[in-house]
Amino acid sequence: MSDEKKTLVVLGSTGSIGTQTLEVARMHGYAVKALSAHSNYNLAEEQAREFRPETVCMTDEMAYGELKTRLADTDVTVTYGKASLCETAALPCDMVINAVVGMVGLEPTLAALNARNRVGLANKETLVTGGELVKAAEKANNVDIVPIDSEHSAIFQSLMGNSGNKIEKIILTASGGPFFGYNKEQLKTVTMEQALHHPNWNMGRKITTDSATLMNKGLELIEAVRLFDVTPEQVEVVVHRQSILHSAVEYEDGAVIGQLGVPDMKIPIQFAVTYPKRLPSCSRKLSLFDVGTMTFEHADEETFVCLAEARKAIAKGGTAPTILNGANEAAVAAFLDGKIPFYRIGELVCECCDSLTHDQTVTLDTINEADKAAKDFIRAALS
Ligand code: NDP
Ligand code: MG
Repeated sequence: MSDEKKTLVVLGSTGSIGTQTLEVARMHGYAVKALSAHSNYNLAEEQAREFRPETVCMTDEMAYGELKTRLADTDVTVTYGKASLCETAALPCDMVINAVVGMVGLEPTLAALNARNRVGLANKETLVTGGELVKAAEKANNVDIVPIDSEHSAIFQSLMGNSGNKIEKIILTASGGPFFGYNKEQLKTVTMEQALHHPNWNMGRKITTDSATLMNKGLELIEAVRLFDVTPEQVEVVVHRQSILHSAVEYEDGAVIGQLGVPDMKIPIQFAVTYPKRLPSCSRKLSLFDVGTMTFEHADEETFVCLAEARKAIAKGGTAPTILNGANEAAVAAFLDGKIPFYRIGELVCECCDSLTHDQTVTLDTINEADKAAKDFIRAALS
């Protein structure tokens, strides 16, 4: 179908974004040079047999051993560990899609950019924790990062053709998640099943939880500041329950340019790969008649404290966003393990951000230290 055959490296290929990236690759006949996953060796095997990559990198040791045995009859090389993940990201290709979950994605993003690979970036924790390093590597190597997060893809598209024009503000839309309109008391009784049932999007468990706490919007606010070089005050969060307007940019003349479409991640994934071109896709087309009404409301940041805490973290700067992100990763993992109720996620993140001192210097070392300190803080609070 496409007029150009691309070669992709897909990190986090077994996840929600990873599998949808492979759907796009399958549709357009793109070659897949390498894949990575953590522990899901069953799906990684299936993907390796279909796409015949040169390598598959597993970051869980047991899964690595199992996959190596299973793929022994093929010419696919199976590798293991974080260093291999960075080597995978640096393989020559047209684009590295980074769809791993968590701040573990930072070093592979840097490795990809330093190898002059274009990056399709879904992994928002990369920009929250190491945004300055990533932008510096993008500039130094003169390669593009194309965002895949739907809001940031929308902003990226709304900026196209407008270089040099002053941005007044970014309108960052939020679905509001499953608990929009709830108060603090009501949040105390919600279940994991309710939290994992997102009204509009079908995503991995971590981001679905982040959407329910509104931490996802907090991370995305920081992601927007990093990607588009605006101040946090220029980013306006607007709850738009229908997830049709994926975000917009207001220019100084008052014109607002936004991107609309059905909520389907294959649209921003494919656009990242084909940018600046557009190709036909298998996604459903938008009917405004079916949508009927679009609503826009304020977020309740007193109840959804994670969003307010993210604003504080980006205002502090340095490693403060890494502390926020690390605390959130650990608290969400505890929630998904059934160790804490939903409302404790926000409380723990706030306690951690209030207690730890951030460092204004941002290097890989200070980021890794801040991440560890935050995760240790949450583990200690839970023991
Ligand atoms: P999933 O949980 O569905 O998938 C995560 C992927 O990362 C899997 O391939 C998983 O492997 C792998 N992985 C998990 N832990 C590690 C680790 N420690 N080291 C290396 N790889 C690991 O996540 P999503 O696809 O939902 O999200 C991926 C990223 O994209 C996140 O940063 C998210 O915020 C962002 N994003 C996602 C959207 C979505 O619609 N899903 C929308 C916008 C952004 P395994 O399967 O083996 O565990
Ligand atoms: Mg998003």
